Amino acid sequence: MNKFEEYCTQFVQSVGNKEGAISPAITSSASFGYGDAQTSEGIFDGSVKKPLYSRMGNPTTAKLESIIAQMDGGVGAVATSSGMGATSLACMSLLESGDEIISIGGLFGGTYALFEETLKRFGIKTSFFDVDELENIQSAITEKTKIIFLESVGNPNMRLPDISAIAKIANDAGVALIVDNTITPLSISPLALGADIVVYSTTKIISGNASALGGCAVFRAIKEGEDKFKTERYPFMAKFIKGAKKMALVPNAKKRALRDFGMSANAQASYQTMLGLETLPLRLTRIIESVEVIAKALSEKGLDINHPCLESHPHHERYKSDFSNGCGTLLTIDMGSKERAYEFINKTKIATITANIGDSRTLALHMASTIYSDFDAPTRKFLGITDGLIRISIGLENPQDIIDDFLQAAE
Ligand SMILES: *Cc1c(COP(=O)(O)O)cnc(C)c1O
Repeated sequence: MNKFEEYCTQFVQSVGNKEGAISPAITSSASFGYGDAQTSEGIFDGSVKKPLYSRMGNPTTAKLESIIAQMDGGVGAVATSSGMGATSLACMSLLESGDEIISIGGLFGGTYALFEETLKRFGIKTSFFDVDELENIQSAITEKTKIIFLESVGNPNMRLPDISAIAKIANDAGVALIVDNTITPLSISPLALGADIVVYSTTKIISGNASALGGCAVFRAIKEGEDKFKTERYPFMAKFIKGAKKMALVPNAKKRALRDFGMSANAQASYQTMLGLETLPLRLTRIIESVEVIAKALSEKGLDINHPCLESHPHHERYKSDFSNGCGTLLTIDMGSKERAYEFINKTKIATITANIGDSRTLALHMASTIYSDFDAPTRKFLGITDGLIRISIGLENPQDIIDDFLQAAE
C-alpha cells in the first residue's frame, strides 16, 4: 500500500464536522470573554481549557494543530504565522545566549540567514555540515549545543540525510533534534525516526495553492523515565515537565516563543491550510510519480538534472531504501550559466516564476540571482548554488506537458 493512503481517511474525517457546519468554523476573534473572575484565573493557570487570547491559541488553529500533531505522531503541535515562524519558535524555545546549533544539510535561505546572521547577533553560534559528515557532526557537539537542525531534503541541493543515523548521534549526546520536513510531509515521519521536534512551512505542499502563509511545529512526548529534556542541558524544562508532564515541550514553546515573540497563526490561514491538508495525500501521490518521470525523461535528453531517483545521484541508494515514498516536489536543472538559465526561465510556458514551492502549479526560480543573491561565493558553493541552477517544483499538470515544455525551453 502506498504510504499516503493511510492519511486519506484521517485527514478528510478530521477536518470535516459530522454535525452542523461541515466545513471548520473560522473563529476570527482576537480575544475571548472569560465570564467571571474565577474562570479567568483558571484559564490563565491552565486548569480551565478555554481560549485565552489568539496570540496564545485560537480554536480554528487548535483544530489544525491537532490534525498535524496526529499526522506526525506528536503529542502536540503549535501552528505559526509562517514556516520561518515555526523554525524560530522551535529554536527560540530551547536557546539562550552562548548556546550552539549544529545545522545539517540544505539549507533553506531564511533558515541559513536566521542562524548565520540573526541568531549570531544574540550570541548563538551555528556550525554547518553536509549530511554525510557524521563524524564531524559528532565531534562538534559540546555542552553548549542545544539543537541539531536538519532538513529532510536539501533545498535546493537535493542531498538526502540518513535521518536515523543523525537522530542516534543526537540522542546519544542528549541534544534536541529538530527536522524541517517541509519538503517531505507524509513521506518521512521524523519523530518515528528519532527526532524531537518537526517543523513545517505549511505554505508549501500542505496548503498547496499559495493561498495561505503558515507554519507548524510538532513535538514528541516527554518520556516517563530518562529523557534528554530532563537533563542539565535543558534546566528550564523542569517546571514544564512538572506541570504538563509528557506535553511539556508544547507549553514551553508557547510561553517562550509564541507569547513572547508572537509568531502566532491566524484563524483564516489555519482554515485554508486545513482545506489544503484534506487533499495532501492525493496531490503528493501524483506529484511524486510525476517528478520521477520528468527527472528521468529530461536527464535522458541530456539535461543536467539533480534528483535522487537518478542513478547518478550520490544518494540514489538511500533514496530507494529510506525515501521509498519519494522526497517531495523538487528537482533542479543546471543550465551551466546564468544566461542559459534565464533563457530557459523566459521560454518556459508552464512554470510560474516564483520563490514558492509545493504548489499545484509547476514553479521555477533561478537560485543565484534571487534567494541566494545575498550570500557570498563560498556560502553559495557550500549550499550547492551554481550560476546556472534553476529550482523546479513540479505541480499537478500532465507530466508529458511539462517534459515537452521544458525541452523546448532548454533548446
Ligand atoms: C519555505 C520554507 C521555509 C519557510 O517557510 P515560510 O512559510 O515561507 O516562512 C522553511 N523551510 C523550508 C524547507 C522551506 O521550503
